[in-house]
Amino acid sequence: MEEKRAVTMDKLVNLCKGRGIIFPGSDIYGGMGNTWDYGPVGVEIKNNLKKLWWKRFVQQADNSYGVDAAILMNARVWEASGHTASFSDPKMDCKFCKTRHRADNLIEAHSHGTVNPDTMTNEEMEAYIKEHNVVCPKCGKCDFTPIRQFNLMFETSRGVTEEGQNKIYLRPETAQGEFVNFLNVQRTTRAKVPFGIAQIGKAFRNEVTPGNFIFRTIEFEQMEHQFFCKEGTDGEYYEFYKKAAMQFLIDLHISADHLRFKDHDKLAHYAKAACDIQYYFPIGWSELNGIHNRTNYDLSRHQEYSGKSMLYVDPVSGEKYIPYDIEYSIGADRLMLAVLSEAYDEETLENGETRVVMHFHPAVAAYKAAILPLQKNLSEKAKEVYKKLAEYFPVTYDEAGSIGKRYRRQDEIGTPMCITIDFDTLENDTVTVRDRDSMEQIRLNISELKDHIDEQIKF
Ligand code: ATP
Repeated sequence: MEEKRAVTMDKLVNLCKGRGIIFPGSDIYGGMGNTWDYGPVGVEIKNNLKKLWWKRFVQQADNSYGVDAAILMNARVWEASGHTASFSDPKMDCKFCKTRHRADNLIEAHSHGTVNPDTMTNEEMEAYIKEHNVVCPKCGKCDFTPIRQFNLMFETSRGVTEEGQNKIYLRPETAQGEFVNFLNVQRTTRAKVPFGIAQIGKAFRNEVTPGNFIFRTIEFEQMEHQFFCKEGTDGEYYEFYKKAAMQFLIDLHISADHLRFKDHDKLAHYAKAACDIQYYFPIGWSELNGIHNRTNYDLSRHQEYSGKSMLYVDPVSGEKYIPYDIEYSIGADRLMLAVLSEAYDEETLENGETRVVMHFHPAVAAYKAAILPLQKNLSEKAKEVYKKLAEYFPVTYDEAGSIGKRYRRQDEIGTPMCITIDFDTLENDTVTVRDRDSMEQIRLNISELKDHIDEQIKF
């Protein structure tokens, strides 16, 4: 699909920087490649996304429980999970301009997605690159070093003395925190299979080619949900989570036309089924989240490496088994990028001016309403309204500049309602409420505002 969209990555980066959504990391020191800091508006939006995800997949789920596990884990965890041995990407350097690339990504881009490098060996990828004259995107030469597998885990060490130091890792995914707590959660909640364990937290990957704003960073947040079920029911739950993951995105007001399932062509040896949901990012169709049927591989491996039995005993039948796991995993930052890309619009107004507007779902927007006194001498009443609403919602207050300019600023950060205090407010306690998307205005009593906002932000 070739669709004309107002959004580009450059426009998003600029808007985010200018409006306090996302800043380059360590900005005053000239930045630190591929790290980003969320600003006052961005942190609210991202927190809202995380809260909505948690509400949907933990709070409203029949049998799901949350954990918040440590980032630093026993190094044996990563041996059991297979990350120490094989969490790597095929890296090659351009001999001419010295830039580093992922061989699989070069092939994918060159073939416009018609060739799947996941099914190729390193030798096959090298041969393909030579044969098809796949060139370095920076300098245009086809002269690369041989492919080397590059482990993506960040290493560090613990221990106070030089000799006593042990190598440990910053976790490259949150999932293992859920697996290692399987027994703890099951025992303390007395959960019966099927049940889920969810977690939201930071993960770190020394990516070969990070970039594209917050699409691929070296530090990011994941929202992961493992659903443990009995073998034989796994197919049904896999389909269930595929649907639920898609519905969550649609409910966030991401257009179904910008979303699609993509089955993995090559499955990991332990996986029974795997697919991604791709979003039509400004860089093209790319993975937004994954759903995997991981069988009982992870719990079995942890049983083997820890020596602790992961057998679940069915309380009715007495049957003993290691449950299967359906994993649903989505990056909070990548979701943020999808939501920003989807919300961005440029509209031409009747007076010929252009307004940039972010059409976030009101539940996602940083501030639910902006309180704007028409003139400065109405600020006392406006602050009263602000304080009243701030008890219930994140709201913002702005009295600087013309009302038109203030509307524009709120449109750019996606505030769904602007509440204007004018001289009538002093007389009869009514205010004007302007809708971000339609720009229509209605008159409400101050006492009606809470219910009105509540209605708009339902998710
Ligand atoms: P990719 O193919 O894009 O490298 P992946 O298949 O390695 O992703 P998973 O390990 O399945 O990704 O991670 C689950 C989710 O975490 C991804 O769908 C994505 O939303 C997010 N994610 C993974 N790596 C990064 C990253 N470097 N930066 C931001 N988000 C990420």
